[in-house]
Amino acid sequence: MANPSILILAGDGIGPEVMAEVKKIIGWFGDKRGIAFDVTEDLVGGSAYDVHGTPLTDETMAKAQAADAVLLGAVGGPKYDVLDFSVKPERGLLRLRKEMDLFSNLRPAQCFDALADFSSLKKEVVAGLDIMIVRELTSGVYFGEPRGIFPDNEGGRVGVNTQRYTTDEIRRVARSAFELARRRGNKVCSMEKANVMESGILWREEVQWVHDNEYPDVELSHMYADAGAMQLVRWPKQFDVIVTDNLFGDLLSDCAAMLTGSLGMLPSASLGAPTESGRPKALYEPVHGSAPDIAGQGKANPIACILSFAMALRYSFDLGEEASRVERAVEAVLADGARTADLMGPEGGVPVSTAGMGDLIVQA
Ligand code: ATP
Ligand code: MG
Repeated sequence: MANPSILILAGDGIGPEVMAEVKKIIGWFGDKRGIAFDVTEDLVGGSAYDVHGTPLTDETMAKAQAADAVLLGAVGGPKYDVLDFSVKPERGLLRLRKEMDLFSNLRPAQCFDALADFSSLKKEVVAGLDIMIVRELTSGVYFGEPRGIFPDNEGGRVGVNTQRYTTDEIRRVARSAFELARRRGNKVCSMEKANVMESGILWREEVQWVHDNEYPDVELSHMYADAGAMQLVRWPKQFDVIVTDNLFGDLLSDCAAMLTGSLGMLPSASLGAPTESGRPKALYEPVHGSAPDIAGQGKANPIACILSFAMALRYSFDLGEEASRVERAVEAVLADGARTADLMGPEGGVPVSTAGMGDLIVQA
């Protein structure tokens, strides 16, 4: 049988720097664990524009569709700010998400003990935190029609967006949340505003339907998204998996992310429908951007990208044990005090470079 395939799109700025550390770990799995991946690399974002005049060629798009998993670094940078919207680096990433139909965006918020002091919240609130936010990524108010800025009847203008969800869109993202919950704490909290929004009423009914008909074993609760935001900051450990729409998920996942400290620590996965292989279409990427202010200086924290690869092991390749191995290595290295610049708090630590951090994690 062919090895599982990974397409690496390192992108721009610190993307290639953090991806270099992931490649060390992929190499380690081949050498030490006999788990070999067929790795292909290609260009995306500004680096693709520089060569091809487009942030994502059709050829690269086809490779992404065919790969078992795509690992992406980051795209964009000040050099490309002047470009026309249609060829901006970010368009490459948007095209990938859209054509792969990646409707379920997974953002874990996990607090490593060694960094518990780093959160803006009290240590007891965040220590040991491990929650997952599932955000619907392809529909809702960011895409609903009608949209636009139109003249109104009084000679002024009106800006219009439409929040719109169908039964199918809600059910498929709900299923992905319930599937996840079964592999974790078996608990889902669904968040919407059913008190003031029609789409919220439908959301609540459909999530409940999927629960009752397909996942009655998983504990389900519902919360208004504003109350959810409050609870997320008050006592986040009450949650396991949170499932919510595109807009609320955008806000809630950023909020949850900051419970844990640095942007340099946060992985993500975007999943689509299962393919013939039984694996979902999948793209893994750190939450952070291309960080042009620190690019090329060996300062970037590679952990977000490394933990994104761990998510690929777990969700694309069913290698949960190996994923935990990577996460434990990260935990151990942090516990030993190794810190990239972004993690250097008042309590200090052992300063390491991007490559230094990657090497320590491989050793661990
Ligand atoms: P984008 O628009 O692509 O999301 P952004 O402008 O929101 O990008 P980032 O590129 O993520 O933001 O950078 C925000 C800040 O966080 C910058 O100061 C950057 O240096 C820092 N940062 C981001 N990622 C890392 C990382 N992996 N390690 C260290 N610092 C980082
Ligand atoms: Mg940003």
